[in-house]
Amino acid sequence: MTLEGTNTYVVGADPAYVIDPGPADREHVGVVRRVGEDRGGIAGVLLTHSHADHSAAVPMLEVPVLWGEVSSEDELALPPGADGRALAADRIGPFEVLPTPGHAADHVCFLLDGVGFCGDLVLGRGSSIVLPGGGALVAYLDSLRRLREGNLELLCPGHGPWIPDPRERLDEYRVHRTDREERLLAALEAGERSRERLLDTVWYDVPEPLRPAAAVAMEAHLEKLGTEGRLPADIVD
Ligand SMILES: [Zn+2]
Repeated sequence: MTLEGTNTYVVGADPAYVIDPGPADREHVGVVRRVGEDRGGIAGVLLTHSHADHSAAVPMLEVPVLWGEVSSEDELALPPGADGRALAADRIGPFEVLPTPGHAADHVCFLLDGVGFCGDLVLGRGSSIVLPGGGALVAYLDSLRRLREGNLELLCPGHGPWIPDPRERLDEYRVHRTDREERLLAALEAGERSRERLLDTVWYDVPEPLRPAAAVAMEAHLEKLGTEGRLPADIVD
C-alpha cells in the first residue's frame, strides 16, 4: 500500500518545513534532521493526513506540528470522507492548504509555487485507497477536481515517484473511478445483485491478492450510488 515507503519532503530554507516525516524510523529521522539543519533549521512539520505511515516520526523529530495531527492508526482504520470539515483553503507558512478529504477525512494538500504536495490523494503509481463511510468517494472525486483547478506543474505524492503531468494524472484518476461506476451500473441494470459476482464483473482485471482491496473499493462505490438513489435495495452477498 505504501509502494517503496513514505516520501518525506524538506521544503525551503531559513527555515525549512518538513512535510510528512513518515514512520518512526530512527535512521530516516536522522537524515531528515540533518537536511533540515543544512537548510537553516526546521520551522515545523506539516502533515497531509494523520495516518501513521506519514506522521509517526513526529515525536522523534522534536519540532512543532504546524498542520495536522499525529495518529497511530493506519490506512484502514480512520474514518474517511469529509467529516463535515470546512473546505475553505487556508495558509500555513509559505504554503496554501487545500482541504482534500476522501482518502482520510483530515487529508489536505500543500501548494507552493506550482507544486502540490498531495499525500495519498494521488500516488506516484497505482491508485489511492478510498474506504466506504461518510461519503468518502464523493468527497474524494471532488478533491481531485479541486486540486486540478490549482493548475499545478508538479505533484509530489506521499508514495512513489513525482508526477510531472498533474492534470493528465488527475483526469486519469477521475476516469478510473467513473469507469468502474459505469460498469457497476451496467451490471446492476443487467439484473446482477450478488456482491461476489458484481466484483467479478466490474473488477475483473484485479489480481487475486488485491481482491479484498477491490471489495472495499466496491463498497465505497455502492455507498455513493446509495446516497444518489441509484442503488437497488436487493443487493446480496
Ligand atoms: Zn494514508
